[in-house]
Amino acid sequence: MPRTVIVGAGAVGLACAYALRKRGEDVIVVDRDAPGQACSKGNAGWITPSLSAPIPAPGLVGQSLRWMLSAESPLFIDPLAVPRMAPWLWQFWRHCTESDYMRGLAAVAALNHNTMRLWDEWQREGVGCELHREGLLFIFLDPAKLRATHAEFALLRQFGYTTPEILDGAGARRMEPSLSERVVGGFLVAGEYHVRPETFSAGLLSRLEALGVEVQSGVAVTGWDRDGGQVLGIRTSRGSITADRFVVAAGSWTGLLTQMLGVKLPMQAGKGYSLTISQPSITLGRPLYLGDAKIGVSPFDGALRFAGTMELSGINLRLDPRRMIGLRRGIDRYFRQAFPRDAGEEWVGMRPLTPDGLPIIGRLRDVGNVYVASGHAMLGITLAPSTAEVIADLVTLGTASLDIAPFAAGRFL
Ligand SMILES: Cc1cc2nc3c(=O)[nH]c(=O)nc-3n(C[C@H](O)[C@H](O)[C@H](O)COP(=O)(O)OP(=O)(O)OC[C@H]3O[C@@H](n4cnc5c(N)ncnc54)[C@H](O)[C@@H]3O)c2cc1C
Repeated sequence: MPRTVIVGAGAVGLACAYALRKRGEDVIVVDRDAPGQACSKGNAGWITPSLSAPIPAPGLVGQSLRWMLSAESPLFIDPLAVPRMAPWLWQFWRHCTESDYMRGLAAVAALNHNTMRLWDEWQREGVGCELHREGLLFIFLDPAKLRATHAEFALLRQFGYTTPEILDGAGARRMEPSLSERVVGGFLVAGEYHVRPETFSAGLLSRLEALGVEVQSGVAVTGWDRDGGQVLGIRTSRGSITADRFVVAAGSWTGLLTQMLGVKLPMQAGKGYSLTISQPSITLGRPLYLGDAKIGVSPFDGALRFAGTMELSGINLRLDPRRMIGLRRGIDRYFRQAFPRDAGEEWVGMRPLTPDGLPIIGRLRDVGNVYVASGHAMLGITLAPSTAEVIADLVTLGTASLDIAPFAAGRFL
């Protein structure tokens, strides 16, 4: 039986392992840490195909330059990191056009086409996790922002999504009584899910164990053994592992790994922060998107998680307290009661980010048996099953059932 090694045991790597194992492949997963401990841990866990739009968007350049002046803004580019990140930032800004935005939206919407079906299917197959199905409620303090965000949803109609009805403030409060009087309205995106992401990794892990997949923790990949256009094995902190195929699903570190193979992929970290409050004083019926502050709120069993901010400061896990202050300040205006300033568990994670905002899913051109599944930015949990199915198709059949050209690694060459 051909053997595939997957590098990275985040949501994407574990999902790829599951999809490949279901096709009868022999799979080994290696991670330098324990599974699911990087970006796949403290995120908001939304499963939200309606947010398929890429991050580089028309108008973002001007807005991000203004936001650079405040460390508490929703998008912060660290001026000290700019020289190091300049080539990547230049490419990112070049993709902030109407045409690239619409092309990216169409590609990700197509990739998301099977997302909800796969999430339901994987649940039925025994990937146990804390999954909720109450949709997402967008709420706003500023009526102009409400109208602008709602208009973006209208773009999704061409991909088969219905445009949600606008609610006024009273309507939003009827759905969520803990919202403050300052909330002027919102809209409910029905039919979307959210998961406690830690339980998704744990559920996949126990399913993989039951299916006989070896998941090795504490194994850092340090190099590749290569023979021309083929990789023979990986070198790791615990010795070499040979295999027939390799999938790099190493999140923000993906570019560093492919660089060791001589393949440059422009992967940066879009750092995000979260705050998880256990046994919170308010309960919510569904997740909320605090539209003006760009903060997501996810109610889990016995906890509330607030997640947001996008910080471009390079690949590092430094937690900037100013960003946490921005997150905490952003929350208070939306609720009748304030949360204690020191409440909650603080977390920082690195969203793997490409300059066009689209993931990289596919085979490397010059190294025929290496595949990449990474760069999912704000949608790695949502897209993990759909990505895994594409990778399983490519590895076992040599072709995918949807057009994956927009996700090709070679687009950056
Ligand atoms: C604040 C925040 C909120 C978010 N909210 C959502 C949301 O609501 N919905 C959604 O869909 N997405 C969300 N995301 C995005 C999502 O979390 C990521 O896209 C996703 O977790 C990426 O998963 P991954 O498996 O690609 O990477 P990771 O989870 O980062 O996993 C990569 C793994 O590779 C391993 N690795 C790296 N280098 C090596 C090496 N050399 N050797 C061995 N192992 C290595 C790492 O240890 C790590 O375990 C959010 C992100 C943030 C930060």
